Amino acid sequence: MFTMCTLDADKDPMGTAIADYLKGKRTSRLQVFSSQFDEDEIPVRTLFRTLKSMPALEKTALQLAAGRILDVGAGSGCHALALQEMGKDVCAVDISSLSVEAMRQRGVHDARLVNLFDETFDETFDTILMLMNGAGIIGRLENMPTFFRRMKRLLRPGGCILMDSSDLRYLFEEEDGSFLIDLAGDYYGEIDFQMQYKDVKGEPFDWLYVDFETLRLYAAEQGFKAELVREGKHYDYLAKLVSNS
Ligand code: SAH
Repeated sequence: MFTMCTLDADKDPMGTAIADYLKGKRTSRLQVFSSQFDEDEIPVRTLFRTLKSMPALEKTALQLAAGRILDVGAGSGCHALALQEMGKDVCAVDISSLSVEAMRQRGVHDARLVNLFDETFDETFDTILMLMNGAGIIGRLENMPTFFRRMKRLLRPGGCILMDSSDLRYLFEEEDGSFLIDLAGDYYGEIDFQMQYKDVKGEPFDWLYVDFETLRLYAAEQGFKAELVREGKHYDYLAKLVSNS
């Protein structure tokens, strides 16, 4: 199930890293742990990428975003700032109060501490943007119906969701090009993560990587049409989802 809450600063490693970077402090390692992968880390400066340094999929999403735009899980506000520079109208939401504060300091006009699944947030938008494996926020495949119901409430007629994700099947690829996936097991893109920055350790959370075909099927079940806008260099893609009703 989704939690509707926001993150306290003492449980918010990514927000703490963003705040440190903004203060001009030398940042430490933003570590990422998972029971399914080896330990990894996110270079904090990538959370501050500018339009120029963004992957092509993200640039395409920003170009396509139109009307009133909701940037979901906006982080340091990199996309919101780029959209503002393009003269577009964007509301940036995040569950991290440290990140929301950072966005305001960086000049994001409308940055709010909001959980996407909190139904008291009931404004409507022409474009809902979910970037940097934006599908991750859905958490698990079983959450798809709840996610799409929520999207129906937030989308204006004719509006769309622009979301990027990766197909993790390459992790299961054998040398001969075949794939070793346990079809009876959990979906291979359902990942558990936990992050740590300095002594700030976050709670474990679910993060979904979804291949386009699976996304398309779930979307269709919930009355959305999915279009593959563009593929990236490494099993990643940008999808556009539009409600049929
Ligand atoms: N989009 C940003 C940040 C991606 S990291 C970028 O591309 O750089 C994912 C962000 O989503 C984090 O800042 C996290 O706090 C936020 N987040 C996670 N779950 C959320 C939810 N349910 N509602 C809103 N934001 C959420």
